[in-house]
Amino acid sequence: MMKLNKFFSEKGARKDDTFVLNDEPYSFGLQFAERGRLPRVVGLGCAYLPIASELVAQPVGGGWWLLLLLWSFVWPHLAWQMALKAPDPQLAELFNLKFDALLAGIWMAVIGFNILPSIALGMMISINTLGLGGLRLFGTGVVLVATSSLVMWQLGNFPLNFHTAMLTLWMTLPALLIYPLLFAWVSYRTAQTLEQHRQRLQVLSMRDGMTGVYNRVHWEYLLRNAFEACRREKTEATLLLIDIDHFKTINDTWGHDVGDEAIIVVTRLLQLTLRGTDIIGRFGGDEFAVIMSGTSPEQAIAAIERVHARLEVFRLPAFPQLLLRVSVGAAPLTNSMSHYREWLKSADLALYKAKKAGRNRTEVAA
Ligand code: GH3
Ligand code: MG
Repeated sequence: MMKLNKFFSEKGARKDDTFVLNDEPYSFGLQFAERGRLPRVVGLGCAYLPIASELVAQPVGGGWWLLLLLWSFVWPHLAWQMALKAPDPQLAELFNLKFDALLAGIWMAVIGFNILPSIALGMMISINTLGLGGLRLFGTGVVLVATSSLVMWQLGNFPLNFHTAMLTLWMTLPALLIYPLLFAWVSYRTAQTLEQHRQRLQVLSMRDGMTGVYNRVHWEYLLRNAFEACRREKTEATLLLIDIDHFKTINDTWGHDVGDEAIIVVTRLLQLTLRGTDIIGRFGGDEFAVIMSGTSPEQAIAAIERVHARLEVFRLPAFPQLLLRVSVGAAPLTNSMSHYREWLKSADLALYKAKKAGRNRTEVAA
């Protein structure tokens, strides 16, 4: 009865799924690079101000100005394009982050390690590397900043200039204030997106994709809970296993699409007819299961008889000749059961009895 896997393999190689799986590292990498995109544009734009104010104070050649303009205003866009076009955008973005650290070190040397702009640059790089790559990238960033700044200081012979002038102080404020706030906001948005993904995954992991009722794994988990609760509280409970009759013939005669529609019809009928507190699961293929806590077998049979009656008169508009019938095995919870699987087994035997007795009926476990 439960040949779900076979059914899917019959559907052929699921090329779409393969494509999605192969594509995942790229899109995850792109999301990673995207997180660094806006902070880099704004951060380096802010970093331009204090460095420029220092370059004005200690005049340097035009080449340095050109480099500063390129780094502050062109590089952020170039970095994004590089990540976008890379086969692995995450790897490209990690390279970009290291390049940021390298360049920040160079600018620290050029401005003679002027205290406030250097702190701002260092903090910016630290926030980036720690926030996007964790402790390891943070360590790499520190090494890169230290090395590039010392090498450049040695090579360029830039005079040390720790004192921060008033103008430079004001020019550093945007980098000190705006950048951390922006990064915090981007991190918050990322956390929100992740939470939405988590919730979607949670729903997907509990529900059957086609019908929306609980899938077998989660339903069994709920069954175990219900079994324990009903035994503890000495509550009556009945388990139903429902299987569509001659479903293979429906598939073979009308096609799998109509078969799928029949599965959905049975699900909706169960949802409409049974109580909201009854826990419906798709057990696999054309088989369903219902946990009815606080329900005697007589009440359960009365409820499932209503489902039988509704199916008697139901017709699919496009295929009025198709008759949908189900067999049901009902198993009351008994004191002799020590494990929920015994309860399930009892319902399965009752279902088998219903099938053997001619189908389209409900049998209660002995
Ligand atoms: P019985 O009356 O004894 O239950 O006979 P049956 O033909 O219904 O036999 P069974 O319950 O074993 O058949 C289940 C069939 O359901 C086999 C499988 O190909 C088909 N199937 C399983 N999952 C799906 C599905 O999601 N959609 C469709 N259309 N068919 C499915
Ligand atoms: Mg069947």
